[in-house]
Amino acid sequence: MASAPEVQHTLGKSAGFSGMSLHTGEKVSLKLHPAPANHGIKFKRKDLAEEPTIDAKIDNLKMVERSTTIGEGSMRVHTVEHVLSALSAMGVDNAIVEMDANEPPIGDGSAKAYVDVIKRAGVTAQGVPRKFFHVREPMHVETKSGAMLILLPDDDGFRISCTQAGPNNRFTQFMSTDIVPELFEREIAPARTFVYYEDVEPLMEKNLIKGGSLENAVVVRGDAVLSKEPLRFTDEFVRHKILDIIGDLALIGCRIRGHLIAVKPGHAANAELARAIAKEQSRREALTVPRVVPKGDGGLDADEIMQILPHRYPFLMVDRIISFDEGGTKCVGVKSVTINEPFFQGHFPGHPVMPGVMQVEAMAQVASLLLFKLAKTTSRIGYFMSADDVKFRKPVMPGDTIFIHAELTKARGERLAKAKCHCVVNDAVVSEGELMFTFLDR
Ligand SMILES: [Zn+2]
Repeated sequence: MASAPEVQHTLGKSAGFSGMSLHTGEKVSLKLHPAPANHGIKFKRKDLAEEPTIDAKIDNLKMVERSTTIGEGSMRVHTVEHVLSALSAMGVDNAIVEMDANEPPIGDGSAKAYVDVIKRAGVTAQGVPRKFFHVREPMHVETKSGAMLILLPDDDGFRISCTQAGPNNRFTQFMSTDIVPELFEREIAPARTFVYYEDVEPLMEKNLIKGGSLENAVVVRGDAVLSKEPLRFTDEFVRHKILDIIGDLALIGCRIRGHLIAVKPGHAANAELARAIAKEQSRREALTVPRVVPKGDGGLDADEIMQILPHRYPFLMVDRIISFDEGGTKCVGVKSVTINEPFFQGHFPGHPVMPGVMQVEAMAQVASLLLFKLAKTTSRIGYFMSADDVKFRKPVMPGDTIFIHAELTKARGERLAKAKCHCVVNDAVVSEGELMFTFLDR
């Protein structure tokens, strides 16, 4: 029986609260605002000139020491995991988190204050299908510190089974739970941050946690548990670990369908898994290219391409652009590789293989067309400066059709741009790289 697809949700209205920031000890106000479908979660820094916003995306992850920090340029937002955890688990896909400081108020060290705000704002459906990451094969990450995360297929929902263990395996706790709003609110959200005394002592001495106190964290010293309020659950620590995992994994920007087995998790391991998921997402995206090459609106034919690019045979490495995405930051080009390509004569006689550098050239040309489309001017031209992380995965042979994907990832001022590119043949990535361009006048 097919059920109706789940839809995206945002907040019914704006709502907020004020409190203290953990690191600076200053007062900070936080407001959650509704946002349109496909917007995702963005943080807004009200206290900075021009009030910049930043996507809560794994690409923007900057630091995972003790808490999770995202950033862009010189802008930072610290300790994002608790508010992200509450938004994600309470079913909010799209929202703006506005703050007048570089981190949200710490509250009591749990996610309770955020859940309360979300409930005051209400959660409303948006009529656009939700995005999911379905775990198809087991994935796993392991860190030197002994953290181990294993993600298994489970199409029924998102479940976390977590084991937490402190120094010398003290406070070993286990919990397994479905991640759904009612359970999260009751069982997970109230669990507070806990710290080991030996970890925070040097920070207290350096005055790095001005807002830290027994009111917003449980401190563990040896076998003793120090806190203003007694433990809320006998296994409060593992519950908080689950809270943090949900917040860190929210950085993938969609919902997980799978079962996560987490052993001694921490922000670094959580972030590593989020990166692995993001990578798998883009790999899958690359495989869903239409096999029938569309013509007409939204693309460029060979004639239009040659009006933009100065390249000519045998150096024109793209036959057609088949699509630009709506935001104009991605495009896909096509190149049909025939035995008549001049490079096959010498590379290699009797065993024709397309040189990798020609694939990089194809990526550079498709990325240039994307940059042109964005700049809308022919007076300047993008020059290919460097290529990083170039990998050649499979040989390309005569008869292959290459789908060349380019995505603009950074544009710095008027002069520099970066694009992530990959080439796909027969549903497999054959090459990839990150290309940097500079613009010069023609
Ligand atoms: Zn936490």
